[in-house]
Amino acid sequence: MMTQAQAIENLNYWNDPRVRASLKTPAYKVLSSSNKTMRIQLADSLLESLVIEEIFSEDHDGILECPTKYEVCGMCQGSGSVADLNIDCGGLHFDPRSPDYDPDFEEDYKNGVYDKQCPRCGGHRVVPRVEFTGDLAMAVQHFIEEENRYAQLVASERAYGC
Ligand SMILES: [Zn+2]
Repeated sequence: MMTQAQAIENLNYWNDPRVRASLKTPAYKVLSSSNKTMRIQLADSLLESLVIEEIFSEDHDGILECPTKYEVCGMCQGSGSVADLNIDCGGLHFDPRSPDYDPDFEEDYKNGVYDKQCPRCGGHRVVPRVEFTGDLAMAVQHFIEEENRYAQLVASERAYGC
C-alpha cells in the first residue's frame, strides 16, 4: 500500500512530459541529414497503415527524402539539457520552512548540477521538423494522436498502480 505522498509522487512521475515521451513511438527517425535534405525512416506500424490505406505501395521501404528543417526543441526549450528525471520528476518545491530543506541542494539544482543531455534533441538544441503533405500528413497526424492517446493511457494506468 502506497502512502499518500508516494501516490502523489507516482502520479507526478507518470504525468511528467519526459516520462510520457519515453512511452511513445516516434513517427519517424532521421537516418541521415545534410543541410539541404534528410532521409527519414517511418515507424513500422505507421508504414503498415500507409500500405493498408493504399497511400504507399506494398514494397515501400518507409524511407523518404525531405527538405531539412529544424525547430527549437520543445523538451529542453533549446537549452540542450534537462534536469535528471530521478532528481526532480514532477517538479521540486523548495520550501525553506520544510524540515528536509537543503539550501545547497537547491543551489546546485538551480545551477544545473543535476542536468543531463536532453533525450529528445540529444543536446543539439533543435529537432528536425518534417513537413508531410496530403494523405501522408493525415496518416502521420493520426499516428501521433494514437501514440499520444496510448502514452496517456499507459501513464494513467501506471500512475494509479494498475
Ligand atoms: Zn532538447
